[in-house]
Amino acid sequence: MTTDRRFIDLHTHTTASDGSLTPTELMALADKIGLSAIAVTDHDTTGGLAEARTAAANYPELTLVMGTEVSANFPGGTMHILGLGVDETAAPVAALLETLAEGRRQRNPRIVAKLNALGLELTFDEVVAIAEAAGGTAEIISRNHLAEALVARGHVKNRQEAFDKYLASGGPAYMDRTRLEPKDTIEAIRDSGGVAVLAHPNQLKCNNDAHLEQVVRMLMDYGLEGLEAYHSGCDDRQMRMYLDLAKRLDLCVTGGSDFHGQGKPDVELGRPRVPAVTITDAIAVNSAAPWSATP
Ligand code: AMP
Ligand code: MN
Ligand code: MN
Ligand code: MN
Repeated sequence: MTTDRRFIDLHTHTTASDGSLTPTELMALADKIGLSAIAVTDHDTTGGLAEARTAAANYPELTLVMGTEVSANFPGGTMHILGLGVDETAAPVAALLETLAEGRRQRNPRIVAKLNALGLELTFDEVVAIAEAAGGTAEIISRNHLAEALVARGHVKNRQEAFDKYLASGGPAYMDRTRLEPKDTIEAIRDSGGVAVLAHPNQLKCNNDAHLEQVVRMLMDYGLEGLEAYHSGCDDRQMRMYLDLAKRLDLCVTGGSDFHGQGKPDVELGRPRVPAVTITDAIAVNSAAPWSATP
């Protein structure tokens, strides 16, 4: 890592999940804006990492951190665990992600059936074609792809209307998918050489700061090692609170934009600024060494 690049982004999405840039395009943008490191953290998949690794070879001043963002079960809120520095070929993380992929494979045709029962014409093959046209695969089909398929059919004006009318939690075509328990998620990440980090703690929707601390302590019992204190969706008060919590509990601090490209146009790569001292070279591509927030 060179010294004149001072900022990192450890939370980004590509076309391997619901981002709009391919891993190659994302790496080019990260280099262009002068990041010193980027983690590619697609939802429930490591499918974009091979391409990101190939692209990274063109950018000697940009460190690539292998990652994934795994959805875990947390009633009442959203719990996403980042696995940073994972070896994507390791069996525990591969098994974890396969379980989640199977949950999507079972759920998605059932959502299509619900939409059909509501009188909306749509086939599952159309949804797969939408996902593939966006650079994804039939393996990771999200509700965003279902929403786009409804738009393409003319059933709704835009993606948001598809969620508001049909696909949002509690909507008439909503179906949840298999989620794994936080403990199993964290253990699989750690057993695959990764650091388990709680992403965007505000999305847990905890009742208050004390409740959040209780949840974080529980996750630490399972092996959680980091807290995403910097995130585009967190305000200054939250950021300060997370930094303080991480310090008190001796957790690593990480941060990232949660960049998705066109799907979330207000979120910019590299924002908020995350100081490079929050990681060491040890988490970089092909390294299995542990890392810490301590500069
Ligand atoms: P899935 O993991 O397939 O259930 O899809 C989750 C994705 O759907 C999230 O990452 C969001 O991008 C999107 N999503 C979920 N709920 C909403 C909503 N109410 N409005 C817009 N997008 C949503
Ligand atoms: Mn997303
Ligand atoms: Mn997330
Ligand atoms: Mn994310």
